[in-house]
Amino acid sequence: MEGTIFSKSCCGRRGMDLPAPEVPVLDPSAVLGPGRLRSAPVGLPQVSEPQAVRHFVNLGVKNYHVDKGIYPLGSCTMKYNPKLNEDLARHPAFAGLHPLAPARAAQGALELMHELGTYLCEITGFRGVTLQPAAGAQGEFTGLLLIRKWHDARGDAGRVEVLMPDSAHGTNPASSTLAGMRVVSVKSDSRGEVDLDDLKAKAGPLTAALMLTNPNTLGIFESRIGEITRIVHEAGGLCYMDGANLNALLGIARPGDMGFDVCHVNLHKTFSTPHGGGGPGAGPVACAEPLARFLPNPVVVRAGDGSYAFEPGGRESFGRLLAFHGNFGVLVRAWAYIRTLGAAGLRETAENALINANYLRARLKGAFELPYDHGPCMHEFVLSGEAQAKKGVRTLDIAKRLLDYGFHAPTIYFPLIVHEAIMIEPTETEGLQSLDAFADAMLAIAREVEEKPHLVTDAPVNTPVLRLDEVRAVKELDIAEPWERT
Ligand SMILES: *Cc1c(COP(=O)(O)O)cnc(C)c1O
Repeated sequence: MEGTIFSKSCCGRRGMDLPAPEVPVLDPSAVLGPGRLRSAPVGLPQVSEPQAVRHFVNLGVKNYHVDKGIYPLGSCTMKYNPKLNEDLARHPAFAGLHPLAPARAAQGALELMHELGTYLCEITGFRGVTLQPAAGAQGEFTGLLLIRKWHDARGDAGRVEVLMPDSAHGTNPASSTLAGMRVVSVKSDSRGEVDLDDLKAKAGPLTAALMLTNPNTLGIFESRIGEITRIVHEAGGLCYMDGANLNALLGIARPGDMGFDVCHVNLHKTFSTPHGGGGPGAGPVACAEPLARFLPNPVVVRAGDGSYAFEPGGRESFGRLLAFHGNFGVLVRAWAYIRTLGAAGLRETAENALINANYLRARLKGAFELPYDHGPCMHEFVLSGEAQAKKGVRTLDIAKRLLDYGFHAPTIYFPLIVHEAIMIEPTETEGLQSLDAFADAMLAIAREVEEKPHLVTDAPVNTPVLRLDEVRAVKELDIAEPWERT
């Protein structure tokens, strides 16, 4: 066990020496006033430089990350993130820019934001955009506020329902509730698509919006998307697309052309910012012209002389979404990614995402159940571990056994409409060898379930910690060494 860095602390040990100050040292209690000084030290760990380096390197090698291998976590788009983006995001001219710098001193940054907004409009087929939302879920919240503003502006304030399929990502109902709306679940049909009869029955005078992920969380493209958005519009509602995972559509199809009115995009998924572990992210929202006047303040505009400025935005805007201008470093990475690939490269990205997912699906189909298989999948697919569960090996066990084989597990038990779900998204950045290695491991585990199931139910045996009681780990979090406990 590595232990915490506090367990290595030794009083008086230090990793660096600061030079003596060249300016007069003030008496802190004279500056701060009496009674404001700490009476005890902060209690930071006191370690040498090699101790600190070894501590974090040792922890780092226990971690699994996309720089180490395939990370097929469905719905999360854990693709490899080019290092060039990191160089640009860390460039002192960007990273050192103060968020309150006057526009004339930040022309390059504003130009980048303006261009990125233009690209995202082109990619999604919309006219208005905000880069402010700091995550996909905040993008959803933003989009719903736009929709509510639109209804309110037309004097149609009674619309409080958001329709969403039963396969929806968990953030969709959460954002709807936060925006003060009520969730109405729409059934999926036997093909894994929206059940049109159920949609027709539920769309009506209370419908504020439909919220849809397309391709949906089963990895299936809604083949009747034009009809779906028409039904909602005829009922007086607007259509929101959850475009968190746009890598199935890039350069091929646009939400704006499918009848959607607004969508968010996860830059930290589709546009290659490293994510997982809680951010930072960015969930820009793009919308059709009639909604643009409600977008959050401020917006970046380009003047006739080619200079850029922040415009406060119209009086109809719902205001500011968060301090400053979003997670700017994430915007830089997305800009760099789009510029590196160009239009043709973005389309190739989507094509490779689809080919990779379909290849893996075909390799695993015989060994695991595939509940929705009437056509090809998009960027991801969902297997069911039901046949294995009948033999006493659950999907959780299969996921744990994959760790022993040196892979990150797929998303499991989501979407909720598939029993023992195993949701796999290889992403476009994996080559044939790594897809095959992952498929071989999954097939080996399927054989183990038949022949030596205890190998799977006892897994993992090769990881730094074995199977945890996850609920207890959250409720009674204790990361101290045994000898540190009192
Ligand atoms: C990841 C994801 C979200 C949420 O994005 P966050 O940035 O984690 O808030 C929403 N919808 C779908 C379909 C997603 O995959």
